[in-house]
Amino acid sequence: MTFPPLPPLGDMSAEELRAHLHRMADWVADYRAGIEGTPIVPTVAPGWVAAQNPVALPGAGAPMDAILDDLDRQVMPGVLHWGHPSFLGYFGSTSNGPALLGEIAAAALNVSAMTWKTSPSATELEGVVLRWIRDMIGLDEPFMGIVYDTASVGVLHALAAARERVAPGIRARGIVGRDDVPLLRVYASDQAHSSIAKALVVLGLGEENLVRIGVVDAFEMDVGALRAQILADRQRGFTPMAIVATVGTTSTASVDPVAEIADVAEEYGAWLHVDAAYGGAMGVLPEGRAALRGVERADSVVVNPHKWLFVPLDFSVLFVRDPEALRRVFALTPEYLEGDAIEGATNYMDYGIQLGRRFRALKAWMVFRAFGRDGIEARVREHCRLAEMLTEWIAREEDFHLAAPQRMGVVCFRYRTPDMDDASVDRANEAIVERVNASGAAYLTHTRLQGRVCMRVGLGNVLTEPRHVRGVWDLVVREAHAGIP
Ligand code: PLP
Repeated sequence: MTFPPLPPLGDMSAEELRAHLHRMADWVADYRAGIEGTPIVPTVAPGWVAAQNPVALPGAGAPMDAILDDLDRQVMPGVLHWGHPSFLGYFGSTSNGPALLGEIAAAALNVSAMTWKTSPSATELEGVVLRWIRDMIGLDEPFMGIVYDTASVGVLHALAAARERVAPGIRARGIVGRDDVPLLRVYASDQAHSSIAKALVVLGLGEENLVRIGVVDAFEMDVGALRAQILADRQRGFTPMAIVATVGTTSTASVDPVAEIADVAEEYGAWLHVDAAYGGAMGVLPEGRAALRGVERADSVVVNPHKWLFVPLDFSVLFVRDPEALRRVFALTPEYLEGDAIEGATNYMDYGIQLGRRFRALKAWMVFRAFGRDGIEARVREHCRLAEMLTEWIAREEDFHLAAPQRMGVVCFRYRTPDMDDASVDRANEAIVERVNASGAAYLTHTRLQGRVCMRVGLGNVLTEPRHVRGVWDLVVREAHAGIP
């Protein structure tokens, strides 16, 4: 058989790439520069974006210029602009210039940080930024970090390690068909994130074995109720496998009393996981460290720099007190990587389910170096100040009330006139959020506290200034006073 020479298929030429990168550089810079004037909410109907494309991929490739034109025509109309400075839904968008540059470099390199050998820089920079984060939030040795995509994946790994600690051998023999595995339970407050329940589903422990503990006044876990529940469960034959305390809950940014919860965990031999996905960032503020009191006693801690430390999605960190506990569950070397075990080198594949791992540390390294510790601290502090400003405006406006104490960069508030019953409060607050969002000029989300709907603002975007928060607030007040049907 002969193989006649064929022209190389390859990639676009360096010159073409350079030209398109220049165009893309303009596109990105224009997007960031013009974002404030862009309506936040897309107006497309479901299916519109998909309908712009053929059902099957055409055989012939398209010219890049046409594809970039279609980015504006077919994709942008369906984008919700999280990066808009008046987008105050969920937790703030964490995009910024240095991070964008880091993402481009990481995409160009496209290395996998599975072992040290598969890219020493990816592994070592991950270690560097993890130590910076650990230091910034006031943790120290022996905590070791690893970067995952999300906090949901972080808690899954933490609970897998907890499960192996309480019932060694599950890794090897599983849980199916065994009567020697104890009945395991996990405890978290009724404000804790749904990702804990998902972790129990994946780990085969059962969603129903996540026991939700009630909260006291400011939405923090009731430690007395936790202790009573564990005692009652133990009498019924359950083993308390883990307790999850939250520093910065999703709805109100409330903070569980971690130190007291750590006492309970210690007493009953339960793994203590702290979900500081949002609230971990408070550790960069000397005046914010109190929120993290007791976290140093945890077995594992999740912090999401993609929520509030200015590293864009996805970048979530799990710190573990005993890294060997993770390795015992997850270290499993395929034959073709056996030679990658090098003395003194970390192989992150040993600490999690993922083998191939993006060079996520690069964007974090660029952001942290560009902002510096002072810049990070100043931005977190500014978001807290903006939340305090909004809280003051709420206090001054008749018929608006805080629905929870303001914590960190989160404010939950409610519109309620004296004549409204509970059902009309729900309808009114939902309607205000809908109308504000439909305006395209601002974006908020709602949540439900003590059974009643309220509005919620979450800060975290480096572009958000006092005038943006003021603008959102004015819009809320205007919509409320426009009358609710
Ligand atoms: N924990 C808390 C407190 C959260 O607010 C969230 C998401 O909002 C999560 C965990 C889940 O985060 P992720 O999207 O990184 O899985």
